Amino acid sequence: MATVELENIKKRFGKTEVLHGVSIDIQDGEFIVIVGPSGCGKSTLLRMVAGLESISEGEIRIGEARVNEREPMDRDIAMVFQNYALYPHMSVRQNMGYGLKIAGMSKSEIKRRVDEAAKLLQLSDYLERKPRELSGGQRQRVAMGRAIVREPSVFLFDEPLSNLDAKLRVQMRVEIRELQRKLGVTALYVTHDQVEAMTMADRMIVMNGGVAEQIGTPLEVYERPVTIFAAQFIGSPS
Ligand code: ADP
Ligand code: MG
Repeated sequence: MATVELENIKKRFGKTEVLHGVSIDIQDGEFIVIVGPSGCGKSTLLRMVAGLESISEGEIRIGEARVNEREPMDRDIAMVFQNYALYPHMSVRQNMGYGLKIAGMSKSEIKRRVDEAAKLLQLSDYLERKPRELSGGQRQRVAMGRAIVREPSVFLFDEPLSNLDAKLRVQMRVEIRELQRKLGVTALYVTHDQVEAMTMADRMIVMNGGVAEQIGTPLEVYERPVTIFAAQFIGSPS
């Protein structure tokens, strides 16, 4: 497990600042949901934690380590994206093991990790199938399997359920939380869906226009929204 600390994180694209200084200390094993409307900077913030986007100002620490300049592979994180980006010509097993193969891991260790992740995700019977032969939910689990096999301390999710139908989405919320608890990992989860945030988060970051307007448990934000935006977006209508 690992803590994640964001300290006054700012992001500029050219002259336009899109994140205006976001700070949060995330505990070991905590499930944090970053929630807010489209364009508020959720993905950019997550991508900065992942190392896919440079940091204009501020500091990111994972565990004890300052990671600002570290490559994504060296950050003890794995990311699950909205469009799972599975390789269509590869089997489930190959998709899940590909990153490890690239990293030069031995075949036997890759097999061990993929088999273990497949078991956890109930994909053991599907390892030789191609992505097109799977349901939406199974594809989503393959994407998670690809992250799990790396055995990171921190999981990053960017709207992983937005391509699924409503019923499956509700089911996957529960599955993701169960998996996260079982693995004992810290998670940062991005969504624009208030209900998803309310039902999944230990604490949530309510973002608006590049600002973290409120950080708190779902109950705190619901009962005591600190800005008009938080009240309208999440909070009770009182
Ligand atoms: P969200 O994920 O909350 O929908 P994003 O983080 O994708 O928001 O985007 C936040 C803002 O940053 C938006 O105004 C978006 O247009 C801008 N932005 C994102 N990526 C880039 C980029 N590579 N170059 C310029 N602007 C960008
Ligand atoms: Mg986004």
